Amino acid sequence: MKKRIQKLDKNNLWHPFSQSKNFIDPIVIETAKNEKLTDIDGNDYVDLISSWWVNTHGHCKKEIVESINFQANKLEQVLFSGLTHNPAVTLANELLNILPNNLSKVFYSDNGSTAVEIAMKVAIQYWYNLGEKKKKFVALKGGYHGDTFGSMSVGFSSGYYEPFKDFLLESRFIPYPEFWNGNNEIEENESYSFEQADKILTENNDDIAAIIIEPLVQGASGMKMSRKCFVNELVKKFQNAGILVIFDEVMTGFGRTGKMFATDYLDVKPDIMCLAKSLTGGYIPLAATIFSQKIHQAFCDDDIKKAFLHGHSYTANPVGCSAAIASINLFDKEKTISKIKKISEIHKECLLELSKKLNVSKIRCLGSIAAFDLNKFDKAYGSDDGEKLKKKFLENGLLIRPIGNTIYLMPPYCIEEDCLYDCYEKIIKILR
Ligand code: PMP
Repeated sequence: MKKRIQKLDKNNLWHPFSQSKNFIDPIVIETAKNEKLTDIDGNDYVDLISSWWVNTHGHCKKEIVESINFQANKLEQVLFSGLTHNPAVTLANELLNILPNNLSKVFYSDNGSTAVEIAMKVAIQYWYNLGEKKKKFVALKGGYHGDTFGSMSVGFSSGYYEPFKDFLLESRFIPYPEFWNGNNEIEENESYSFEQADKILTENNDDIAAIIIEPLVQGASGMKMSRKCFVNELVKKFQNAGILVIFDEVMTGFGRTGKMFATDYLDVKPDIMCLAKSLTGGYIPLAATIFSQKIHQAFCDDDIKKAFLHGHSYTANPVGCSAAIASINLFDKEKTISKIKKISEIHKECLLELSKKLNVSKIRCLGSIAAFDLNKFDKAYGSDDGEKLKKKFLENGLLIRPIGNTIYLMPPYCIEEDCLYDCYEKIIKILR
């Protein structure tokens, strides 16, 4: 059976972020429970990256599975233009209750890239509807916002998009002042970023539709963290200049940083927020882009051309919305934020231990996210070093994907303390 699946996979499938030429038979995952994935031969792997940062409460969680079953038996899908349903309305209500109170309109889609694409299209049309043409976006260097054309345009410096560079929207990038404990140059770096931001504002102010930010943690660039004071000041700068602010909380949302949203650490509020990944607890593809009343108002008109003429077949899929409601309810029921605090404490304790034993730098941790950089390790994406290490982790029952020379852990919140300690022990052993 395993061989058959692997053969069919090799013959028929094209995997994301993978070089088919170096195809190695992939592990066939058959089942999952809590923080563990089990392959067809019965081997377990601790899902230390929450299956690409989507899983929150653990795999096959009873409450979410039941809610999916219930909804699939009642109403699995219906178009969302001119019709509505209880799961979509209830979820929007739940989201608006926990999001910053200036956000008031929810637009659903399917994934993080579309959540960002919608934010960018709305930003452009917002200005258009007000009679202004603003074409440019501002983003932070290294940021990643997805793989559609709009989202690639603001994530260009992530380095994945060379073939498309002539086809992207015009964007300006501010250097990202990366923070870790012991970075003595942080204030200097932040000042430099502000200088560059000021320069961009002076040169392009009339032409900037919005700035997009991954608040506090840049995920795909290698779990690079920034200080709250930096994000606060940057947002104020742009909002004072009348520019819309988009927070991409696709990765940081739903507890990842230790609060429900990274925004909850800040004094500022975005005009637009993008959510996906963990919205459904990691069970069904669903995304939401949430807007302030001011933005939505600019689309309300007798003229249909002023409406946002954008939509996806599966917009507000009822099963996805039900999974999301179940996942959000679990946060209260299971005191999930306290569980994340405990994970964070263990991360910090183990990172300290690890830093004494290994040649590592830039130790960082926020909420359930822990990361460090390996010195003397190839930084290139998909390097031989990285591939070998990934394999070694898997052989030891750990699902970890290094990003360049960064090793990061972001487990589902259900992970048992002993299991997490055990993972760190294995990681230290392997890296030694
Ligand atoms: N924004 C951020 C911050 C992300 O981390 C990602 C995915 N890694 C995306 C957007 C794109 O999400 P998706 O892969 O669901 O399209």
